[in-house]
Amino acid sequence: MTQKLNAAIAGGGIGGLATAAALAQRGWDVTVYERQDALRAVGAGLYIWENGLRVLEALGAYEQATAGAFRGTHFEQRDLRGEIIESAPIQANKRLLTVPRSALLDALRDVCLKAGVKVKTCAEVISATSRGELLFANNEMVQADLAIGVDGIWSKVRTSLGLELSHEQLSEGALRTMIPAEPNDFGPDDIGKYIECWNGSRRFLITPVSKDETYLALTCPHDDVQARTIPVNKALWTESFPQWKHLIDRIGSSPISWGVYGVTRCHSWSAGRTAILGDAAHAQPPNLGQGGGMAMQNGLALAVHLEQVTDRRDIPAALERWENAERGLIEHCQRWSILYGEVTFLPDDVRTKVLRNAMLDPWIAEQVFRAANHSPTGTGAA
Ligand SMILES: Cc1cc2nc3c(=O)[nH]c(=O)nc-3n(C[C@H](O)[C@H](O)[C@H](O)COP(=O)(O)OP(=O)(O)OC[C@H]3O[C@@H](n4cnc5c(N)ncnc54)[C@H](O)[C@@H]3O)c2cc1C
Repeated sequence: MTQKLNAAIAGGGIGGLATAAALAQRGWDVTVYERQDALRAVGAGLYIWENGLRVLEALGAYEQATAGAFRGTHFEQRDLRGEIIESAPIQANKRLLTVPRSALLDALRDVCLKAGVKVKTCAEVISATSRGELLFANNEMVQADLAIGVDGIWSKVRTSLGLELSHEQLSEGALRTMIPAEPNDFGPDDIGKYIECWNGSRRFLITPVSKDETYLALTCPHDDVQARTIPVNKALWTESFPQWKHLIDRIGSSPISWGVYGVTRCHSWSAGRTAILGDAAHAQPPNLGQGGGMAMQNGLALAVHLEQVTDRRDIPAALERWENAERGLIEHCQRWSILYGEVTFLPDDVRTKVLRNAMLDPWIAEQVFRAANHSPTGTGAA
């Protein structure tokens, strides 16, 4: 790139920071505008599959983001009696690491700063235009060669540009928290596993993220009001998952957040010189643990598609090429993540049969893991 182009990014979350780093590493002058008073992760832990790990490697954030991370060997589902529904080994060539969200965000922030990205906090974007303009709550405005909305599920950039096709809030959500790990938390048969336990429409997901911390996700329908209260109704969750009482008892030392599941579809990911990505453009429920991976992957892809652009007038066409190249896989992942969520509402014995048979079917496994097996644009991975 001969002339330095500039980008203004709304949102300093996983996707915004990955996009900012990828652009700055390619010579762009980048500023991230974040609504909060600091770059801060919301949630607790995060699954990062092979595709997301390759993006982190490409950005130079891998070592820091995954230092001390947990690498599971099996993903196991259990029924209301604690019996194994299915225990799927995680193939050696398909890495899956689980990390605290804060570790990922810190690593992305650090590669951004190293690449010269400027970060402005307390900067709430209220709308955008197709001319690369972002407008802020304090009435200020910036104009850039390229503006990008990575401002999450309730994206103002998306709605103000009229890009939204549909935005649906699903009837399920999750309470997420970290608990301190203790040596005897897991029996000999549990070690090295991610364990998803079901009872009715409640799910208890146990995810070690380091030797010191375990991430718990307690998922339930939105109308299961008692189950989604904060502070966590420990008696209720212990009644549903008595074998995990020792973990449930330890809830409370870390912040707890209730995350709703949303699905966003857009008729286009850009208008003129303004684009959207991440949850702003393609939010999906977290059943496949890929929303963050897709946000990072798409941010890197965007930067790669803009690599040859030296004149801002060529940006709209590059954005169109980017969307054409990336949309298929992202929407595939979104579809399968929604499908997986359907089992929540099945009776227990039916769910057991469906999950057991589905996970044994190679075609279904290929659909579920297609994104995880993918070599994202720009990573140089074969
Ligand atoms: C329960 C749950 C579990 C999940 N588990 C996983 C998992 O294991 N693996 C995985 O890959 N994904 C997971 N996800 C999905 C993942 O969290 C999201 O896909 C990912 O965070 C999207 O990144 P993003 O940068 O697009 O949006 P966000 O992470 O939401 O970041 C948006 C940023 O923009 C800021 N912002 C918002 N509005 C404005 C504004 N108007 N102006 C300026 N800034 C603004 C926000 O403060 C935030 O910093 C999970 C989601 C949920 C709900």
